[in-house]
Amino acid sequence: MSNKGVWGSIATINKVIDKSNFCLNNLFQLKVGRGTRIRFWLDPWCGTDNLANRFPRLAAIDTNIGCSLADRTEWTTNGFVFRGCWRREIREGRETSEILMVNTLCNNVERWHWRLNESGIFSVASLRAAIDSLTLRSAGPVTVWNKFILTKVRIRNWQARIDRLPTKQNLMERGVVLDNDLCILCNEERETGDHILIRCRRAIEVRQAVNLWWNLLPSQPTSVQSFFEEIRGERRRGWCKIKEVAGQAYIWAVWNGRNGAIFNNKAFGPIRTANDVQSQVFFWCKSRDKRFRSLNWNTWCCNPSSYLSLYSG
Ligand SMILES: [Zn+2]
Repeated sequence: MSNKGVWGSIATINKVIDKSNFCLNNLFQLKVGRGTRIRFWLDPWCGTDNLANRFPRLAAIDTNIGCSLADRTEWTTNGFVFRGCWRREIREGRETSEILMVNTLCNNVERWHWRLNESGIFSVASLRAAIDSLTLRSAGPVTVWNKFILTKVRIRNWQARIDRLPTKQNLMERGVVLDNDLCILCNEERETGDHILIRCRRAIEVRQAVNLWWNLLPSQPTSVQSFFEEIRGERRRGWCKIKEVAGQAYIWAVWNGRNGAIFNNKAFGPIRTANDVQSQVFFWCKSRDKRFRSLNWNTWCCNPSSYLSLYSG
């Protein structure tokens, strides 16, 4: 694919998303022969007006005003270029500059078809949705239960699993100058994603508090990745489902607690954070699936396993 023109510019983002094994080139399709049915001067194939109206001088001296797009453009290693066919010599000045303008339009000719939209027109939204579906699919069962978990939570937690959160370590590696690299929660160890979310003693206290209420979270994982692997290794389907929701709520709550401590000077409280997990799971389930509308807060707090059968569906 040429790097010239609009489609070429879109293709350059491939370098950015390449790291996620997302092959952008496969989403483009060259529409060979499409240009033979489009009249170069008379059809509005670029913009809302045709070229005969935009460049009447040039149209008037073409040997065939009814020629096709394919007749007047040629694919080269630099993309599509304009190939004029004139009744007479081109004059310097306006005609020459107009030919350059027409050539630019040809260079951007949309013979690339974007597979993700029926119209064939590229859109950022369709690309974003495709990347999301790919990345979330790679996260395993999360997509199955996504109705329980808000998109922003899934994206945040996915970033945590691949170590893309703006932790102190990640920021310093990117050249951001900070006072220190210590974990804001314990002030003892370097702040990495796996430390602050999993190995930090304050995070462990959160898990212990959650598990006192309902034994849902792995107690001794070493990383965010192994945390979710352990949850997904659960054989009982209902348990696995509720544990996944709780695991997502836990990562979300600890990271928010960490941010509150850094940006709002709020003390990090393991009990309060565990309560956040408890209420998040309650509200996510209750609001996002009609089977859970009967959830009662008091029962949820005192005897949550009484609802376990609801999760087996
Ligand atoms: Zn820590």
